[in-house]
Formats: sequence, C-alpha cells, structure tokens
Amino acid sequence: MTFETILYEVDGAIATMTMNRPEAANAQDSRLIDELDAAFDLADADDAVRVVILAGAGKHFSAGHDLKAIVGQAEADEWVKLRETPEGKFHHEKVMYYDRNKRIHDFRKPTIASVQGSCVAAGLMLACMCDLIVAADDAQFSNPVLKMTGAGVELLVEPWELGIRKAKEFLWTGETIDAHEAWRLGLVNRVVPRKELTARTRELADRVALVPPITAQVVKDTINYTAELMGKSDSWKYHFMAHHWTHNTQTALSALETRKKKSTMKEVLADRDKGDLPGDR
Ligand code: ZN
Repeated sequence: MTFETILYEVDGAIATMTMNRPEAANAQDSRLIDELDAAFDLADADDAVRVVILAGAGKHFSAGHDLKAIVGQAEADEWVKLRETPEGKFHHEKVMYYDRNKRIHDFRKPTIASVQGSCVAAGLMLACMCDLIVAADDAQFSNPVLKMTGAGVELLVEPWELGIRKAKEFLWTGETIDAHEAWRLGLVNRVVPRKELTARTRELADRVALVPPITAQVVKDTINYTAELMGKSDSWKYHFMAHHWTHNTQTALSALETRKKKSTMKEVLADRDKGDLPGDR
C-alpha cells in the first residue's frame, strides 16, 4: 500500500505512523484521515506489531483539521461538499472525525503519541486518542475554537485529560498549555528534549512491547472500561450532538459566511495563527 500523506513503518514490534504534511503543519484532510485509518488496519492485522507510535513530521504534531477546503480556499472533496446541509455536516463529522478518532481510542494494541510543536484542536483530540503521550519540550497544546463559535471539537477530551475545572478554563480562554504544564496536569506522560523525542518515544514503546500482547491489550481494555463506567463514551455522544446543534446556530453560520468571504488563504491562516479559527470545526 502506498501512502501520500503519512509514512508507515514497522521496525521489530513497533509500527510508527507519521503524519507527513509538514508544509501544512500536518493539518488533517480527508486523505490523511483515510490513510491513518488504513495504517491502523495494517497494524491491527500484523501480529508482529505490538505497539503503535503516532507522530507528526516537521515542526508541529498537527494544527487540527485542514480548513482549506472547508472555508472554500481549495477544491472540496466529496466529504467536504456534504457540509452544505446540517445532515451532511453531521454525516461528514460522524464518519471522518468522530468514528475515526474513536477507533484509535479503542484500538486493541497500546498506542503512543509523540508530540512536538503545535498540537491544536483536532490535533489535540487525535493525540488524546492514544494511550500514552510523550511530549517534546517545545510542545504547545491548545483548542481555541470557542471564540469562533465551535463548541470544542467532536470528541470532548478536555474533562478527561485536564479535569473538570481546568477543562472549562482551557476551552473558554483558548489559552495554550506548554509541555511542562501539560505534564503537571497529567495530559502527557513524559517531557523530553525536542531532539530526543523520536528516540525516547521509541524507548517507551520498546518497553511496553515487552509485555505479552494479550496481557497489554486486556489491561488497556479494563482501564478504558473504568472510564466507560464513568460515562466516557456516553458523554462523548452527548457532546457530539451538542457540538452539531451549535454548528447550525445562526451565530455559527454567520461566522462561517464571513470566513468564506475572506479572499486569501493567507488571511485565514493568519487568523488561525492568532487562534481565530473558522466556526465549522
Ligand atoms: Zn464539528
């Protein structure tokens, strides 16, 4: 299988999936989302693979969902075209965002995200789908979508990752959490020097790979079940419906129209750099 937007490599017991759109800060377009899903199929089917590492090439882990097609700055694919109606928007996000991320969360083998630079919005959601997170000391976590009307992203990871009170502050202010604060809050397992990120993530993966696969998988499942007893999946289903109700408010639709009128991608990206994202995330 040939991939265009990711790299997939198996070395010993470890499969490494690397998002490979560094020129776009690994923004997730439909192709990248599909290719990641296919890579998880490969890792699932390969008995040699005991642990999966999810990484991003270049300076940043991921800037979130790719906005170009969604704000009309690039040709929309069939998924993005669906977004013209509320029901199409729901279907797009259910299949491409919600289900694809949940699949990674529930993946039977242990997963480790290796995060550097910006880890924003849907990039944060993706990292949080992994069992463990190793952060480079330059990692920056943020989800600044609320000021542009988005009710978070599709899976509300923040209460589970940061605690209830911090989650509200993080989302309402859109403030960035650096790697050390992320470690203090329990969002990441380890903080390592940027230049050691790949090697240190691999060291951790090798260590996890020493556990017999069935044992590692059973323990993952039972720990995740603990979160299920606390209502994790049910709370995510509730949030997804609320998220979609908010997508279709007059406030959100007006904000989206304003975005579509912006003449250049540069303007949109400048807004994104300011943390001012389109309302259709
Ligand atoms: Zn959305």
